[in-house]
Amino acid sequence: MEFKVLTLPGDGIGIEVTREAVRVLNHVAAKFKHKVHLTEGLLGGVAIHKTGTPLPPETEAAALEADATLMGAVGLPEFDNAPPEKRPERGLLGIRKALGVFANLRPVRAYAALIDSSPLKNHLVEGTDMIIVRELTGGMYYGTPRGISGSGPEERAINTMVYTRAEIERVTRMAMELARNRRKKVTSVDKSNVLENSQLWRKVVVEVAKDYPDIELDHLLVDNCAMQLVLAPKRFDVLVTENLFGDILSDEGAVLAGSIGMLPSASIGAKKDNGYWVGLYEPVHGSAPDIAGQNKANPLGAIGSVAAMLEYSFGLKEEAAAVNKAMEDVLNSGRVTGDLKPKGTPATTQQVGQAVCEAI
Ligand code: NAD
Repeated sequence: MEFKVLTLPGDGIGIEVTREAVRVLNHVAAKFKHKVHLTEGLLGGVAIHKTGTPLPPETEAAALEADATLMGAVGLPEFDNAPPEKRPERGLLGIRKALGVFANLRPVRAYAALIDSSPLKNHLVEGTDMIIVRELTGGMYYGTPRGISGSGPEERAINTMVYTRAEIERVTRMAMELARNRRKKVTSVDKSNVLENSQLWRKVVVEVAKDYPDIELDHLLVDNCAMQLVLAPKRFDVLVTENLFGDILSDEGAVLAGSIGMLPSASIGAKKDNGYWVGLYEPVHGSAPDIAGQNKANPLGAIGSVAAMLEYSFGLKEEAAAVNKAMEDVLNSGRVTGDLKPKGTPATTQQVGQAVCEAI
């Protein structure tokens, strides 16, 4: 196969971890005889420095032209007090919007080698393997009316949680398709005992599920789900939920796996005419100014994002599995960065990238 990938390393450790992710992408492509065309663009603080804006039009055009985008992280302390339109993080929201990615996928996996760094007891977390699918472009974060008005005791704030049937349907279908390639179970999370919005959510999910008789569907109220994630994380295969609930639950899911440096994420949009899926892939962590430029950052979240890209945008399951297996081998070998608390001297960012390539 042949595909075009845009890389946006961004700021801080984004640059270091993306370099290793690209090393792995090139390695796996060569091994499986695929041709990758790589281009690099500016996003975040570095883009503000060079062009005056966090998302230059050339970057947006390049992302629309590419088959998938691999991002590092954005954010520099010098912009902490800048106005919103001059902040690196604005670039992130801008590119998600430009690409129309409507579902955020966060795989959560408990690796055997990291089981002791999970805050949960080993027997609870062992074997956890789920994907949290969060609707990304609707709900409370975008709904109108919104705003703060009035003054004194009458000052009031309003936000609106709004979903259309079409928005619920497309994200539910994505969850169902993902489950088909996994353990065939979808848990839909809502608050239908209180919110009309969730009542529509549940109704549409049930209707869509009729097209997927091979998938087992269950429903959880979001408060119960928050408990179940720590009480019995193994029960989940694919969890699908709306934007605000997903924002909160995916961070709860994140701590199950140990270090934040380990976590990949994928944001997926529509299927392109060439059969590839629009996708934006990035580690969950930020630009970590405290360790930037020191060759200390864990690149496994970025490398895991490459595995996600191969699987979700290009349908290359065997290649994705090879990357995931190599990451697991490296974790088991103990050649890992300091955040994972190895017994001996920690490996550098670059050494971990090289070790993953060797293990593929
Ligand atoms: P952060 O994720 O950058 O760092 C939090 C802590 O985790 C730090 O101690 C850091 O050293 C550590 N850490 C993060 N990634 C690591 C890795 N790969 N290996 C080892 N340790 C790692 O979050 P923060 O400190 O709250 O934010 C720093 C900057 O990043 C801010 O400007 C913020 O806005 C931005 N940010 C960007 C994104 C993104 O680009 N998607 C996400 C979160 C934060």
